[in-house]
Amino acid sequence: MDFDYAPAPESRSVVDIRSSYGLFVNGEFVDGGGKAFKTINPATEEVLAEVAEADAADVDRAVKAARRAYSRVWSRMSGAERGKYLFRIARIIQERAREIAVLESIDNGKPIKESRDVDIPTAAAHFFYYAGWADKLEHAGYGPDPQPLGVAGQVIPWNFPFLMLAWKIAPALATGNTVVLKPAETTPLTALLFAEICQQADLPPGVVNIVTGAGATGQALVAHEDVDKVAFTGSTDVGRAIAKAVAGSTKKVTLELGGKAANIVFDDAPIDQAVEGIVNGIFFNQGHVCCAGSRLLVQESVAEDVLERLKRRMGTLRVGDPLDKNTDVGAINSAEQLAKIRELSEVGEAEGAGRWSPPCELPDHGFWFPPTVFTGVTQAHRIAREEIFGPVLSVLTFRTPKEAVEKANNTPYGLSAGIWSDKGSRTLWMAGQLRAGVVWSNTFNKFDPASPFGGFKESGYGREGGRHGLEGYLR
Ligand code: NAP
Ligand code: MG
Repeated sequence: MDFDYAPAPESRSVVDIRSSYGLFVNGEFVDGGGKAFKTINPATEEVLAEVAEADAADVDRAVKAARRAYSRVWSRMSGAERGKYLFRIARIIQERAREIAVLESIDNGKPIKESRDVDIPTAAAHFFYYAGWADKLEHAGYGPDPQPLGVAGQVIPWNFPFLMLAWKIAPALATGNTVVLKPAETTPLTALLFAEICQQADLPPGVVNIVTGAGATGQALVAHEDVDKVAFTGSTDVGRAIAKAVAGSTKKVTLELGGKAANIVFDDAPIDQAVEGIVNGIFFNQGHVCCAGSRLLVQESVAEDVLERLKRRMGTLRVGDPLDKNTDVGAINSAEQLAKIRELSEVGEAEGAGRWSPPCELPDHGFWFPPTVFTGVTQAHRIAREEIFGPVLSVLTFRTPKEAVEKANNTPYGLSAGIWSDKGSRTLWMAGQLRAGVVWSNTFNKFDPASPFGGFKESGYGREGGRHGLEGYLR
């Protein structure tokens, strides 16, 4: 049967995008000393707003505001009082969830069904979760009277702008630290909306400061001498540069970096469910996911069947307008990211892997890449080793569990993995062998604020989420 979905656009009227934005310092929006930059809608290339760039002097003002708020207000407040602010922020996020979700999809390009059903509810859940810890820190296992570090400098990427903000800010505030956060250059708008939420929640000025800008702003922030804690999520290259920049200082650092996760399908797996998990693992958020299941390891005896069903399923994915409620795969976040995905895909072909995408019409404007699968991939191929950070799956096969473990671990990364099998004993054995921070069993890309997340090896160090997520913000 051949049919089309009628358009089901989410209304934009719920968001009010200003023509220009300042920095959020000491509870107020102020001008930036740098050259203002534009943020665009990657699905249309329409300019959304001009955003102030924080230079080193602005970063210094923001850190000073955070320091003042830390010593005069926030570190002196009881945990129960801090918790009230966090609960208030969590409730406002819920109340304004639709507005935040629509704005996120416009600025980032991700499908509205993901921002609406995953990013924003999970962000609210993070604030609720850490609000609950604020008055119970002495029971967290970090000593009878755990103390905050001071001012946290936090730098986040563009793939989950609001959710990464929540992962960073919620545990920092719950533990009594104050924050200066830099969102990514291509996705600043929901962080600036969060600044408004802080005002609405009557958060004391200076407890949260948002400095917008590009790499140089991030560099000034992490290098600032009065920052006590650096929390970074982004690429392994920048993570390495940050580790070098803070080496020898007393700054505490947590790094959440890249990944090249194996999604491992055994012959006894429920195949249709596994196919859904493979699709979710690599096409969720256009594959702009550090823990994406970008390497499919499938047992040889079922490889043909799995691939056939996977291709059939990929043919039903709808690529297009992020604000359409039926869209599965939205826009690539930027022209730079699109160029990187194209380049690595061309390398995959040149190195001899088989490339396939379902027939799909891509919009004329904006940045788009069709869901793509590479077969016949070997360990030597660059597409098996390097992070593509796009909707591109590399398929490898294996015969025995031991071979699956060897192939899965044969990567400099170690962020996540998935195992699809009917046998609990095998799954547990595999989970023990895999060098990955998170291992999912018969599911993929599941996030919960109570569960720690973080990497091995070049995927970084430190954990975010759960009780473990408190540690990086305590003395
Ligand atoms: P990126 O280039 O490392 O950028 C991340 C953030 O750091 C951005 O805000 C960026 O600014 C800023 N930045 C750039 N250079 C800097 C410097 N020298 N000092 C301080 N800050 C600097 O990464 P991306 O390309 O945006 O994001 C994709 C990468 O992030 C992928 O590799 C992905 O795996 C990783 N990631 C990891 C996780 C995780 O939890 N482990 C989560 C999400 C993403 P601008 O971009 O604004 O210029
Ligand atoms: Mg944008």
